[in-house]
Amino acid sequence: MMTKTSTTSEVLIQLEDKYGAHNYHPLPVVLSKGEGVYVWDVEGKQYYDFLSAYSAVNQGHCHPRIIDAMISQAQTLALTSRAFHNDKLGTYEEYITKLFGYDKVLPMNTGAEGVETAVKLCRKWAYKVKGVPVNQAKIIFLSGNFHGRTMAAISASTDPSSTGGFGPFVPGYMVIPYNDLSALATALEDPQVAGFMFEPIQGEAGVVVPDSNYIPDAYRMCKEKNVLFIADEIQTGVGRTGKMICCDHFGIHPDILILGKALAGGVYPVAAILADDEIMLTIKPGEHGSTYGGNPIACAVALESLQVILDEKLSENAAELGEIFRHRIQTELVDKYDLAVLVRGMGLLNAIIVNDSEDSKTAWNICMELAANGLLAKPTHGNIIRFAPPLVITEEQLHDCIDIIIRTFKSHVKS
Ligand code: PLP
Repeated sequence: MMTKTSTTSEVLIQLEDKYGAHNYHPLPVVLSKGEGVYVWDVEGKQYYDFLSAYSAVNQGHCHPRIIDAMISQAQTLALTSRAFHNDKLGTYEEYITKLFGYDKVLPMNTGAEGVETAVKLCRKWAYKVKGVPVNQAKIIFLSGNFHGRTMAAISASTDPSSTGGFGPFVPGYMVIPYNDLSALATALEDPQVAGFMFEPIQGEAGVVVPDSNYIPDAYRMCKEKNVLFIADEIQTGVGRTGKMICCDHFGIHPDILILGKALAGGVYPVAAILADDEIMLTIKPGEHGSTYGGNPIACAVALESLQVILDEKLSENAAELGEIFRHRIQTELVDKYDLAVLVRGMGLLNAIIVNDSEDSKTAWNICMELAANGLLAKPTHGNIIRFAPPLVITEEQLHDCIDIIIRTFKSHVKS
């Protein structure tokens, strides 16, 4: 017999199924409230959130300072479009450019738009500055990438579920194997290459971390060939990996930096594309934009979201707690049970690879049981489970979560 509590979730899931496009396959959990590291479902069950909306909620759910900034700005002025100036944009632009060390920022909304913007910017720079013949510019991407769902983003993808049935694709892209410097050297021989776009850690591919020399060497090689080094830090940025951006681990300053997601603390879609004048000023008035990009709410929210990361030392917390996470998972799970093949990551962006040789649904089943045990995580690419809690998580909460993860994995071990 169906219980009253399960009815609410089931009815809401059925509504989505009936009236919404079927472009996602969520865990059957219907959330209605969030605070800090916790979310609650419509039946009132509490969970630790270990997805953080794909790293958008680094500051924790409904952070009071970010919500206050949003509410007070929404009550004052929400949107002007860029046909007029607004009194929040310049202040925010000064703040974010100084924080990340760039001359200029171009504000957009979603991550995929940020990627599109970077592609356009790179092409303009190719023709106006580098001197690539018109319409011949090429950009290098890496296999396994995830840059979003727009045409410009999926045209770089090597994942059939991103590309299947959506062609024809955007030309001018070269996709080379990830973490392969000799493939990069070969690609860079082409004089029409204008940019190299990469994720410092491939989040959607399953938190794939490159060799420690890959990013510094790739940077040096791109510099030698006058090729723009374009970092998509939409998932890795804003504290997630233990530094403000992941490239900081290597002392690298990308030519174009793309931020999104946690730039707005998970409350509003805000993206930023940062670059110096030589690159950014190649785009002239009327050549690119977005009605909502740089709106007053976005500016107020993004400024507060970044300041929260700094004030609450969330990058530092991610670095410290990430070490604890990987150490305990390695020694108490991976070293002891064949079910967990590997743990990898940086800061609080981590993944466990599940041995699914006996059953391809193992990772999904573990996530279902993790949910039953009060922790939400989601598999990616079948057998990889990403663990990315809000960075406001405390050490005590993290130990509690690791206990849940180990207990759940152990219950799946065949004796
Ligand atoms: N780039 C990376 C590295 C991402 O992880 C994502 C989203 O997961 C995107 C781009 C796309 O961002 P959005 O979903 O906001 O368009």
